[in-house]
Amino acid sequence: MLKYIYFGFGMAGVILGLFACAPTPKAEEPCNFVQNVYGQRISWKDHTPIPLLVHGDFPREYIPALERAIKAWEANAGHPLFSIVNTNYRGSSSPAKDGKSVIYWLKVWESEKTTEQARTSIYWVGDQIQEADLRVNAKNFTFFTDTSQNSTGVNLESLLIHELGHVLGLKHNDAEKSVMATYLALQIKREELTAADKQSLSCEYK
Ligand SMILES: [Zn+2]
Repeated sequence: MLKYIYFGFGMAGVILGLFACAPTPKAEEPCNFVQNVYGQRISWKDHTPIPLLVHGDFPREYIPALERAIKAWEANAGHPLFSIVNTNYRGSSSPAKDGKSVIYWLKVWESEKTTEQARTSIYWVGDQIQEADLRVNAKNFTFFTDTSQNSTGVNLESLLIHELGHVLGLKHNDAEKSVMATYLALQIKREELTAADKQSLSCEYK
């Protein structure tokens, strides 16, 4: 978890001691980001666009919805945040810490977590995110998109905007109708970033 480690030796002619020490980083304003043990915001910093692999099980007809969700963030950042490098990734369908950031469409989901619409995990070193995995719960939910004829189930753009927020390093925000609010009701669209969301974004992705 330490980004820098300094080894200091004693000043006399003989080695008096070996010190392993790290400067304590300064805590930062949260801006609704996950923070490390030092209170630093964690994000991808300037390592954007974030390379994303879309698993081959993700329905082809829903890829435009994913692209719209990406646009919702990028329109406010003013520069690319995500880059879909593969729309038909055929690696394992079991999310793992493998150095790849993958969007999964899962037909298998934990029986004790059936109310969870999606889940995103992030891995970081220091204050730098290295990997994010986004899972959509396609076992317990059905979805509609902005271009669907019906509007039953979960609005996919809204869900993906929220999960991509987690990919960026954001936490839940239950104030001010944020796209990062914990719960997304069925049939409801929540695709507009609020002032609070834009403010959060600007703290790390200028
Ligand atoms: Zn969430």
